[in-house]
Amino acid sequence: MSHSDVGAYVLGILDDRDSAQFENHLIDCLRCQRELQDLSAMPDVLDGVRLVNGPPLPTPGALVLQHTLADISVARRKRTRTLWASGIAAAALIVLLPLGTAGLMKGPAQSDGNKVPTELVRGETVEATSPIGAKGKVVLEPTNYGTRLTGWFSNMNGPATCQWVVISKKNEAQVAATMYVPPGKTDVPLEIHGAAPFPKSDIARFELRPMTGGSWITIPVS
Ligand SMILES: [Zn+2]
Repeated sequence: MSHSDVGAYVLGILDDRDSAQFENHLIDCLRCQRELQDLSAMPDVLDGVRLVNGPPLPTPGALVLQHTLADISVARRKRTRTLWASGIAAAALIVLLPLGTAGLMKGPAQSDGNKVPTELVRGETVEATSPIGAKGKVVLEPTNYGTRLTGWFSNMNGPATCQWVVISKKNEAQVAATMYVPPGKTDVPLEIHGAAPFPKSDIARFELRPMTGGSWITIPVS
């Protein structure tokens, strides 16, 4: 068993014995846990594979790994293993594996004491701090519908309902997401997921706008 088995494990192409061995390894191996989580964040590729042969993956996100590890320890040998016939799709994913560790971006660590693993997000990062101290950071990931966005916002003074607005270079404004900022100072960044109907190259800036008016923070995109 080695670190390189994570791809085969995700695809379910290990036999029962190898799979159990890999799970034993996974419990103690941070590197493989990260890689597994990273692979879980490749829904397009994995969905393509799963459509052929099996059930959809769990929704990607910080909890995926935690759930996976919980599944392993609870239901270790009882799981029905899906048989995979799609060798071509499997090979395609394994070829992608070396890219999985490139360009990884760590989100801000959870500092509230819970054990949720830090989410790994792939993409380019922009960030800014406003004159009043509010902080925003956005990871932009190209997709076939525009740009997938993950934002972290902190140091705001709630309560307020806010719009996360994307402004294009042609000055079109679109709402990427709306959020409720809880009362008080937001010490732990709020993690928000959204999307823009533009490619990254067409995005001029992001703004976080409370519904009461004004703008809490502007994040330029170069
Ligand atoms: Zn490992």
